Amino acid sequence: MDKWEYSESIESDSIVSIKSKYGHFIDGKFSTPNSKKYLKTVSPSTEEVLASISVGNKNDVDSAVNSAKEGFKIWSKTAPSERAKYLYKLARLIQERSREFAVLESMDGGKPIKESRDFDLPQVAANFFYFAGWADKLDISWGTKEMKPYGVVGQIIPWNFPLLMLAWKVAPALATGNTVVLKPAETTPLTALLFAELCEEVGLPKGVFNLVTGDGTTGSELVNHEGISKIAFTGSTSVGKYIQNAVGERDIGLTLELGGKAANIVYNDAALDQAVEGVVNGIFFNQGHVCCAGSRLLLQEDIHDEFINKLEKRMQTLRVGNPLDKNTDIGAINSKEQLDKITSLVNEGVNDGGELFQIECELPSEGYWYRPSLFTNVQPSYNIAREEIFGPVLTTLTFRTPEEAVDIANNTEYGLSAGVWTEKGSKILWTADRLDAGVIWANTFNKFDPSSPFGGYKESGFGREGGRHGLLSYLKVRS
Ligand code: NDP
Repeated sequence: MDKWEYSESIESDSIVSIKSKYGHFIDGKFSTPNSKKYLKTVSPSTEEVLASISVGNKNDVDSAVNSAKEGFKIWSKTAPSERAKYLYKLARLIQERSREFAVLESMDGGKPIKESRDFDLPQVAANFFYFAGWADKLDISWGTKEMKPYGVVGQIIPWNFPLLMLAWKVAPALATGNTVVLKPAETTPLTALLFAELCEEVGLPKGVFNLVTGDGTTGSELVNHEGISKIAFTGSTSVGKYIQNAVGERDIGLTLELGGKAANIVYNDAALDQAVEGVVNGIFFNQGHVCCAGSRLLLQEDIHDEFINKLEKRMQTLRVGNPLDKNTDIGAINSKEQLDKITSLVNEGVNDGGELFQIECELPSEGYWYRPSLFTNVQPSYNIAREEIFGPVLTTLTFRTPEEAVDIANNTEYGLSAGVWTEKGSKILWTADRLDAGVIWANTFNKFDPSSPFGGYKESGFGREGGRHGLLSYLKVRS
């Protein structure tokens, strides 16, 4: 035998039980949609239909908001220490059932099980624990100021980290005494529906958490409902702008967490092998479906060839395939639409003159897949260097001096995150100080903690999620 045969290690899906059809979760129970309309949620790795989910219309959203209004009367008067108990219970149940959640997330969204199991679920539980701890400390945490919840909060989340985005939004909203109407993305509703079952199990008072599934029109009904006191949105910049306009002059709270085109800057004094790992993690984590992905690699010119050589070798070791295989590094692209978008932007990059490297590997015959890809010989004006591709595609640019690195890094309409790789602490501080980005990692990438605020500048949105600042997004200050 010349080489070891590859042996897959598949996580069993027998732990999940998916119903054929789901209603909305309103007033503490699942209900048939008023719209009588359903859409299908599909596994992006097999194209198999997993379930039918309800499409919320104006009446469904209205029922959910009314339920949340009733829930607010009770929840806002519930002792903060009691609110904390519910959140702790949810956190513990999420931990207990984390394997089930992780498998479901990978089936519905296409992400590798090792990521949903080792990243998403631990982070989800950590967020519920963290915000549970804050619930009874709000009054003493801001000096003499009195903090009040908004009321009914409308939350709209995307498909890249479905349950984690739920946790980032629901945990602080409930800890601060708000009630919630959540609209998950149409391609990934299943873990939010399972979370609703947990809310029933812990006996969360009726109306505190409501879930209306559906598509963009359902989201739009939620945004435009006059019973909403705050909207929290994560998704594309275009929908974020629509929401900002729709909210207009209404006196409601708004936080927007939008796209990104992060620079990952590698100086010539960086530990190159370590930087290669960080760059790979920065762009190929979750198939590159990450708003803060390090999608623009900025290399100091004199290390360009050596670094690209190392990077291509490392990329070639990435294993693309079944999300439920514990060895998989790159799972399925979330939807056919997203695959088409990635393909079209990459074709445009090639036509513009970019040099494309894609790894050699077999792709499954069913499902939506994209090979990890790397562009070199790119001009900053190319669309691949400017637009969020939201896929496993890295674009390389070069610089000569730190000043030039900062100029190129900031030459984008976005400002969500950035990375800096150098062995010199002073250079990290000098660079970080000049970067227009809400989150900056040094000699690492994609590190998250519930206590650390996350959010962007410029067209990446406004408001922060996580940490004490994240709580403020759900509180009105009265002095
Ligand atoms: P969207 O911004 O359209 O979706 C995010 C959420 O908003 C989903 O729940 C979506 O519902 C909902 N939504 C869509 N239209 C409206 C509306 N008019 N009013 C209220 N809610 C609405 O992202 P897409 O899924 O369409 O992805 C498009 C691109 O956006 C991607 O290619 C990527 O570049 C970027 N993106 C960025 C994300 C980020 O975190 N920064 C996350 C996701 C996408 P539904 O899913 O049912 O359409």
